[in-house]
Amino acid sequence: MEILTVHQKGKSQIKSKNRLKIFSLILRSGGISRIELGKSLHLSPASVTRAVEELVQAGLVYEEKKEITFVGRRPVLLNVRKNSCYSMGINISRRSLSLCIQNLQDEVIYEVKGNIWEVESAEDLLRVLHQFINEAIAKSGISTEKYISVGIAIRGVVNRQKGTVIYSQKTQEVIPIVDSVKKIFECAVFLENNVDMDLKYVYARAFPYTDELVYVFVDESVGGGMISGRQMIRGESNMAARFAHLLVEPEGRICSCGQKGHLESYMARSVMEEEYRKRSGQKEVSLNYICAQAQAGEKIAMAVLKEGLEKLAIALSQVVVLFNPGVIVLCGDIFEQYPQSVDFLRKSVETLISIPELLHFNWRVRIQKEIKPEQNMAKLALEYLLEQ
Ligand SMILES: [Zn+2]
Repeated sequence: MEILTVHQKGKSQIKSKNRLKIFSLILRSGGISRIELGKSLHLSPASVTRAVEELVQAGLVYEEKKEITFVGRRPVLLNVRKNSCYSMGINISRRSLSLCIQNLQDEVIYEVKGNIWEVESAEDLLRVLHQFINEAIAKSGISTEKYISVGIAIRGVVNRQKGTVIYSQKTQEVIPIVDSVKKIFECAVFLENNVDMDLKYVYARAFPYTDELVYVFVDESVGGGMISGRQMIRGESNMAARFAHLLVEPEGRICSCGQKGHLESYMARSVMEEEYRKRSGQKEVSLNYICAQAQAGEKIAMAVLKEGLEKLAIALSQVVVLFNPGVIVLCGDIFEQYPQSVDFLRKSVETLISIPELLHFNWRVRIQKEIKPEQNMAKLALEYLLEQ
C-alpha cells in the first residue's frame, strides 16, 4: 500500500507522515470529523483536507453520509474501509509455522498452520516461508499490494534493526529474513522474537499495572523475557533473559551450548521425556503423558517432573533476587497439564529466598490455547506501522 509508506527525505516525508497519522487516528476513532482531526494532530485544515483526499482516493477512507437532523447537520465523519488493506502475521516456532491475514478491524480473513519440524538451514527456512506466503496470497485472493504491514515472530536470536535471526542453535546461521520477505511485499515488515512478542502482548493486555514482570516459557528449551519500568529488557546483543543457560548444577549435565549444568539440560521437554523413558523402560512417551501419570500419583513421573522443577526453582530464585519482580508468568505444557507444578515451584522458591520483601510477587500461568501468536503479530505489526 504505497500511499501509507513513509518516504525517506524532505517534504514528501512530512506529507506521508501526516497521512499516516491521520489514517491512524481515523482507524482508532471509529469515526471522526475533519475538524477534530486537525485539532487532535495540530494540523492546518488545508493539510488535513489534502491528506484525507488522498486517503479517500486510495480507497482507504470513506465519508459517512450526511444526515439532516432537527438540531442541525452532523459533521461528516471519516471512517476506514476495513477491507481496504491487510496485515499479515506469521509465527515460526521450532515445530510449526502459522500464518494469518487480518483486515483493519482484526478480523481473520485467512489462516493456515503447518509442520516445519525438519527445517534447519537458512535456505530451507526461507523456502518454506516463501511457500506459505505465496500460497496464502493465492488462496486468499489478497494480492501483495493490498498489505499495509507484515509481522514475523520467530524463535531464536533476533536482530530487529538488521531484520535477521539466528534460528538454529546448531548451525548458528544468520538469516536475513526481513530482506527475503521484502522481495514479496512493498510494505513495512517487522521482526520480533516470538517469546518477546508474546511477552509484550501479555504485558500490555493482562498486566497493565505491573512494572516489573518475568516471563518464563518452557518447551524444547527454556525461554523468557523481563519487563522493567514498563520497558522490555533486551540487552546489548538482544540476548537478555536466556534462562536456558542459567547455571543450576555446577559440573552437571552438558547443555546444548557446550557448558555444564545449565537449566536447559534439566527442564527441556525432550530431556524430561528421555529421563522418564530411561527409568520406566517405556519407549514412546510424551511430556503430556508424564504429566498425566504424575497427576495419577505415579512415582517415576512425579520424580522426573520434580527434578526439572527443582532446577527451575533454583534459576528463578536467582532471577527474583536480581530483579525483584511483581509477577512471574509461566507458560508451557507442564504448568497446564500438571497444575501441582506451580505450587511446587512456589514453595521451592520460597525456601531458597529468605528476604521476605522479595517474595511479594504473584505467580500466573499463561494458557497456551488462548495464544494465537500469528494474530497477535499481525496486530502488533499494524501498531508498529502506525506508531512510526
Ligand atoms: Zn547452556
